[in-house]
Amino acid sequence: MSEAPSSGTPYPYDAPASQALFDRAAAVTPGGVNSPVRAFRAVGGTPRFMVSGTGPYLTDADGREYVDLVCSWGPMILGHSHPDVIAAVQDAVSRGTSFGTPGEGEVALAEEMVDRIEPLEQVRLVSSGTEATMSAIRLARGFTRRTKVIKFAGCYHGHVDSLLAAAGSGVATFALPDTPGVTGAQAGDTIVLPYNDLESVHEAFHRHPGEIACVITEASPGNMGVVPPQPGFNEGLRDACHKNGALYISDEVMTGFRTSRAGWYGVDGVRPDLMTFGKVMGGGFPAAAFGGRADVMAHLAPAGPVYQAGTLSGNPIATAAGLAQLRLLDEAAYAKVDAVSQTVQNLVTEALTKEGVAHRLQNASNMFSVFFTDREVRNYEDAKRQESFRFTAFFHSMLAQGVYLPPSSFESWFVSTAHDERAVQRIADALPAAARAAAEATAE
Ligand code: PLP
Repeated sequence: MSEAPSSGTPYPYDAPASQALFDRAAAVTPGGVNSPVRAFRAVGGTPRFMVSGTGPYLTDADGREYVDLVCSWGPMILGHSHPDVIAAVQDAVSRGTSFGTPGEGEVALAEEMVDRIEPLEQVRLVSSGTEATMSAIRLARGFTRRTKVIKFAGCYHGHVDSLLAAAGSGVATFALPDTPGVTGAQAGDTIVLPYNDLESVHEAFHRHPGEIACVITEASPGNMGVVPPQPGFNEGLRDACHKNGALYISDEVMTGFRTSRAGWYGVDGVRPDLMTFGKVMGGGFPAAAFGGRADVMAHLAPAGPVYQAGTLSGNPIATAAGLAQLRLLDEAAYAKVDAVSQTVQNLVTEALTKEGVAHRLQNASNMFSVFFTDREVRNYEDAKRQESFRFTAFFHSMLAQGVYLPPSSFESWFVSTAHDERAVQRIADALPAAARAAAEATAE
């Protein structure tokens, strides 16, 4: 294992093989990556190109091993290369890779999802979380015959044109005010409101009577860092929607099948009209879904007039991986993830407190993140007030010591059932130097 970096050196370790791959990538791919946050631009340095993953560990092109606290941004809740998931994939792939016809695997995955989440009466499988939210919004508009959509600043719902306004995740990381390419017409029907502020939701409904098709919210946001809903917020959204004839859409792409067996619905029990899913349900493959009330889903083609389709939707390998993963996720598995998460949260708090670093650790079940501020973070404006330069120093120290954190202070950290004592000990060993680096960091 590498030793701690000397303070004052932001990127103390070379990663020559990753750098060579990054140079090759930059020649053929914009920014050298296929999804912006992967490029390390918020923290600087060379993004690590990973070649393999086993349990809680990733190995990069330079042969260095890291304890992974990103877990592919959520999906790998059983750790990497879980033998049962790999076996299910191998079995599926041996029978062919895509048929373009219905198959039993997609029925079984939909049944498993419906069985876990009571308000989920019907589901439609798609290939990414972006497709899920895009389709759910279209369905809500088609069903209500209204145009406007309410979303919250700092919530990220994928790169759907109309939902990129004041979005979290990469949009927050790069502080993009707006995205060129999204037209006024596409963004004009989106009403962006501050998170955790019910009053502004009531006002919006009042200002736009009969125009709002839906409110879409992350069930518990993880894309501006972890900012859980205040008690009563999600209930208030549902009630405001129902009073005004709009649909309440809970985006569970990140929380779904992670924060409990039934996702965030299993935690707060607030019944949405529509829900969206991705990440965990695909077992590391491109599978996602949207679903909810049967009377609303009946408006979807071919049952109804709202069009939605996909060449690879319900792909047999993706559905086999997702089903294998969900079947392993029993109460004991969630208890394990929750316990590891709590242990890591305690270790982080302890290390930062010891070094006198102002911080706020926030969690939503086993999802958590650290804000370098001493104030509670209730919305995106609060999240932006943190001292991100301390995160940069903290991140690079952890990386140099073999712990892979999300390369941005606006992202959730994720653990898995595979994070055992050895992995946790490696995190514990790395934290004191990282906390010191955060304490010593200065703004540019
Ligand atoms: N919704 C939420 C809450 C997400 O966290 C994400 C991705 O991080 C998405 C939607 C988009 O999913 P995808 O990246 O699969 O398109």
